[in-house]
Amino acid sequence: MAEPNVPDSEISEVFPGVHVLTRLLPGFGIEVSSTLILGRSGAVVFDTMCSPHDLGPVVDIIRSEGSYAREENWKLWVVYSHGDWDHCLGTAAFAQFRKPDCDRCVVIAHEEAEKRIREETQKELEELRKTEPGLVKDAAIILPEMTFKEEMSVYLDGGFGPEGVDVEDLDNRNARQKRVCDSVSGEIRLIHVPGHTSDSIVCYVPSRNLLIAGDVAEDPLPSLGEPEHLGKWVDFLETMADRVKLVIPSHGKPQGPELLRKNAKYLRGLRGKIVDLDLVLGQLNSEAREFYWKTHRQNIRCLSGSSTRD
Ligand SMILES: [Zn+2]
Repeated sequence: MAEPNVPDSEISEVFPGVHVLTRLLPGFGIEVSSTLILGRSGAVVFDTMCSPHDLGPVVDIIRSEGSYAREENWKLWVVYSHGDWDHCLGTAAFAQFRKPDCDRCVVIAHEEAEKRIREETQKELEELRKTEPGLVKDAAIILPEMTFKEEMSVYLDGGFGPEGVDVEDLDNRNARQKRVCDSVSGEIRLIHVPGHTSDSIVCYVPSRNLLIAGDVAEDPLPSLGEPEHLGKWVDFLETMADRVKLVIPSHGKPQGPELLRKNAKYLRGLRGKIVDLDLVLGQLNSEAREFYWKTHRQNIRCLSGSSTRD
């Protein structure tokens, strides 16, 4: 289903109405993902990867699912987990839902993302056009049109998925058939969790016990950029580990909440200056191992104040 010019790309439905698209980042040995949540009254896309070509399968699903054409007030909420280049450069894929053709798409991010994208991501994109032109083919900077500081919610009225099915009902066929969702069941909460970057946010779907984590959780270890927020970041990971059943990181496979505990343990270890890196890295291919070994070294430097990010 993925476009042939996007190698090593795949999309899977991890929950009814929740699709995760991944692609390999060549030269890094890791993958990056974008998550689509479909509802009857609209859809949420969390992160737009590196190029509009990455998102062909997501656009296909939105168009083929049909509520876009049926529902008069249908809306597409595009959310940036943060302003790093691998998370926000494919938004032009949704041009058909945006002005001037139509006005059904709004881009949301944390209030600090706009400045970061304008100043840092723009430069990174220019560099990538020279070093990895295929990766950022037709990529464009599209700034957020709606921002928030601590937390905001988006509501997909009628619940999730084409049928508006809510998670409690998935094991119960009768309930599923009778299901009429109330508006709260479609709540999608966007929460500011700085630590990786100042503008990092997550997408928490309470009714599905689902956390779409951006780079706030990463497999096998997260990248620290804002050491002053380390304590709150760890607290958040530990709190959410008791609340959610499925975690979708931007780098790593969808998995259980153990990832949050593992990341929290790693960050605590970083602060306490004792990390068993072999245990943390586990079984990785050599390219990914090298990438995360460097990330770990960078985290130590960041914490000791000598550098924040490369
Ligand atoms: Zn990233």
